[in-house]
Amino acid sequence: MARVLCVAAVQDGRIKRSSLEVLTHFRQLCDRSGGAVEAVVLDPQPNQFVDTLQKYGASRIFLVAGDAFGQHLNEPVVRALESVFRQSGADAIAFASTESAKDVLGALSVRLGAAVLSDVADVDVRDGDWVATRPVMAAKRHARTKALTTPVIVSVRAGSYVASEAPAEADVVEVSFSDDEQARRPEIREVLVALGGTVDLSEATVVVAAGRGVKDNEGRQLIEELAEVFKAPIGATRAVVESGMYPATSQIGQTGKVVSPDLYFAIGISGAIQHVAGMVNSRVIVAINKDPDAPIFQYCTYGLVGDLYKILPSLTEELRAAVAG
Ligand SMILES: Cc1cc2nc3c(=O)[nH]c(=O)nc-3n(C[C@H](O)[C@H](O)[C@H](O)COP(=O)(O)OP(=O)(O)OC[C@H]3O[C@@H](n4cnc5c(N)ncnc54)[C@H](O)[C@@H]3O)c2cc1C
Repeated sequence: MARVLCVAAVQDGRIKRSSLEVLTHFRQLCDRSGGAVEAVVLDPQPNQFVDTLQKYGASRIFLVAGDAFGQHLNEPVVRALESVFRQSGADAIAFASTESAKDVLGALSVRLGAAVLSDVADVDVRDGDWVATRPVMAAKRHARTKALTTPVIVSVRAGSYVASEAPAEADVVEVSFSDDEQARRPEIREVLVALGGTVDLSEATVVVAAGRGVKDNEGRQLIEELAEVFKAPIGATRAVVESGMYPATSQIGQTGKVVSPDLYFAIGISGAIQHVAGMVNSRVIVAINKDPDAPIFQYCTYGLVGDLYKILPSLTEELRAAVAG
């Protein structure tokens, strides 16, 4: 097995859950086959993440400090990752498949002459070959892909693995990085945060999602009350995004966000394949639908057949009491 350098993405002052899942997966692969898993974090103050990365078993941690890393700028990120990757001597670099990762994979692969296995749901090294499984056709089929060259860049969908701790003592390497602000071509003038204060859908451990069964303000209120119990973000189907009831940023599915929480509530959602493609990796799915033949019931862990307007008030009350207790 190879040496793998995992990129630890930072959001809201924390390493993203999806990055810890990737780190865990490669640690387990490396443990089985005698490789080593390393981590790199790019941040204005990367030292604060050493404890977390040690807790998840990184054997070597590269810290690259720079103000540019707090600003969604691709060029400094590509430059820093290229430099750390060459310094580490790793055979592969692994990302969680986030929007930021998608932004840099192409440029990084050109600079490193690397094969890219992007947005995969599973990745392994067999007889020295890097092989991955990737959902295609709205997750109806899985394509098997093999990297034809090394090094390899891999990005893994959130929720593909479970993050678990395995504390280790890591070597910490501080990498110097100089950023010439004058030479930068793009300039970030403003970062707009949609739905400020709520949890990012793709990182959330609980998601409450609404579909066309939610017809009015009363329905929206019921959804919000349930979401409040878990401090969960609200997702939506394309139907209710297009009707203007929910913002486009909340759309889950083939043309929206891919989520993989521990608990997903599908409320008044039929379960069209384009929606399912974005949530089927959720660990526990609870569906409420008045149509017993709705396709969503084929995917759910618990199904409640009935009117969401009648079910939600008592369900929310029970859950609130359970969570408080
Ligand atoms: C190329 C393409 C891409 C697409 N991308 C996406 C995507 O990314 N995400 C996405 O979501 N969709 C996407 N769609 C649309 C998708 O095909 C479906 O049309 C959409 O998901 C349906 O949304 P829905 O389940 O809210 O609505 P519907 O299919 O209309 O279902 C509403 C459900 O609510 C139930 N219901 C109604 N009233 C109640 C009540 N009082 N109590 C309980 N249940 C009730 C009904 O029984 C029904 O099952 C895409 C379509 C195409 C063609």
